[in-house]
Amino acid sequence: YMEERFEWSGELRARMQTVFRIENFRLCQEGVCNANMDGRDIVCVMPTGGGKSLTYQLPALLNPGCTLVISPLISLITDQILHLREFGVEAVKLTGSTSKEESRDIFSRMAMTAGIKNKGNYNNGPVSPEIKLCYVTPEKIAKSKTFTSMLEKVVNAGKLARIVIDEAHCVSQLGHDFRPDYKKLSILRQLYPRVPILALSATCPPKVLKDLITTLRLKPVVACTAANADGTIYFSAPLYRKNLHYKVLPKPSSAGAVIKTMTEYILDYHQGDSGIVYCLSKKDTENVARGLSEESAGKIRTGVYHADVHDREKEALHKRWHNGDVKVVCATIAFGLGIDKGDVRFVLHHSMSKSVEGYYQESGRAGRDGRDSDCILYYRPQDASRLSSLVCGEIEGQDKLQDMLRYFSTASSLSMSAWGTAESDAHARCGHCDNCTRPPESVERRDVTLAAWQILQVTQTIERDGGRVTLGMLADLVRGVGGGAYGVSGGGGKRGKGKAKEKVELDLGEIAGGKVKLGKDETEALLVSMLLSHHLKESFHSTAYAINVYVLSGANAFRLARH
Ligand code: ADP
Repeated sequence: YMEERFEWSGELRARMQTVFRIENFRLCQEGVCNANMDGRDIVCVMPTGGGKSLTYQLPALLNPGCTLVISPLISLITDQILHLREFGVEAVKLTGSTSKEESRDIFSRMAMTAGIKNKGNYNNGPVSPEIKLCYVTPEKIAKSKTFTSMLEKVVNAGKLARIVIDEAHCVSQLGHDFRPDYKKLSILRQLYPRVPILALSATCPPKVLKDLITTLRLKPVVACTAANADGTIYFSAPLYRKNLHYKVLPKPSSAGAVIKTMTEYILDYHQGDSGIVYCLSKKDTENVARGLSEESAGKIRTGVYHADVHDREKEALHKRWHNGDVKVVCATIAFGLGIDKGDVRFVLHHSMSKSVEGYYQESGRAGRDGRDSDCILYYRPQDASRLSSLVCGEIEGQDKLQDMLRYFSTASSLSMSAWGTAESDAHARCGHCDNCTRPPESVERRDVTLAAWQILQVTQTIERDGGRVTLGMLADLVRGVGGGAYGVSGGGGKRGKGKAKEKVELDLGEIAGGKVKLGKDETEALLVSMLLSHHLKESFHSTAYAINVYVLSGANAFRLARH
């Protein structure tokens, strides 16, 4: 589906340019559109900001009838509808907060649609006033019989073009964002067996994918290059986004000092830019918002978003953020899915997210317009307990991790650098970040690939034997030597239940005891960034991406990349 030309190819491109004012397709967009037009079931994994919406909005315009989009959040739906209406596309929403009258109106328009004779599968006339896209929350499918039977009429009239499931990883309990109502979407295939399904996600590790396929009752996946094969067409775009510059910075110990650091950072690098500061608790969001505003003497215009903020205020905040009244939103993860704002120039993490995938999603809200943006994690050792998933790896990542470890433990340094070269594109100097703009002699660059894997290996070995590893312990381990290899007996230190059977050789002297001496906190920050870098690369089962993670410690910067 990626290369071929189809009868609709010209029309797709024309509509993309005239309706959406987008010049060219990006990533696998065209392929997904083609598979959609061809009536296939599809799973498409594309990074946040990659442009998933276009993959169904464009075919929706070309097909007769209505495309049903299931989306988890009202704010996301509202943004999409506003966006579509701006382009003159007829889109409606049915959510828990849709009024009775509105629902009735939509129902009768849908029924009208169902009554209209099917004019064939391909309609290249002008956009008709019929509803082209209907957005619903998953509860509508799970709980509203009125809705599902109305939909049945539309289906019977051949007027339901396809069903799109946005944020489809929410169907799986193995993912980080499980939603019970999503699980109930399994009835879709039963109720409407002939309507093609498009499942979209930015994060779908192999186990989640498997779960998703089973839950949605889709056929096993086949590659997007196998258009003739039976099965669900699978597209996955690289998750590496080269405009995002990741950093882990040491977090000062007092709350005031954290605010001061963040304020200075924002004023120095991002004055007047839009950004998000993710905090762990509702209270933190309020304190940070107030702090940034006070410390900057009102120069940073902040807003607060968390689950307890009233719906009306949430909506108002969205508006103020979009029109620039509010520049920096201090939020919990409740501010998430589907923030359709392209020019988010920075995402700061006041505290580490609960999982790596969560971190990836949250930081991924920066730079959706493709311009350079910063993602900074403020890290301090006290946060280490929350990082256990980083250290131990998530259940999902472990098989993959084991495979990688096996690979690395047998690989010679030659094959390791060959591995690196294959991905050299991802490591090209960006020319914008601190590392690339500093004079080269002031930057320390280290290849810590092997070291990072060794750390993970030690951790894995100890964990497997029932021990527990904290980041602090790892940092001590790393700092404990000045150059050269050393052995570590596993068993999880004092807390370990038993002695590890294996002895793991580490050669981390280069990092912490070589030319650059690191303090304990800096070492921990370094470890965090190494672990993050590796998890982000490896748990997202894509081959062509890598994330640049930098650890800045005083004047020294480490570039953490494969080579
Ligand atoms: P996702 O849902 O994958 O996170 P969106 O569909 O919201 O991403 O798209 C992110 C942004 O990229 C939107 O502003 C959209 O208009 C823009 N966009 C999508 N496709 C393209 C493209 N091919 N070229 C340029 N911009 C695009």
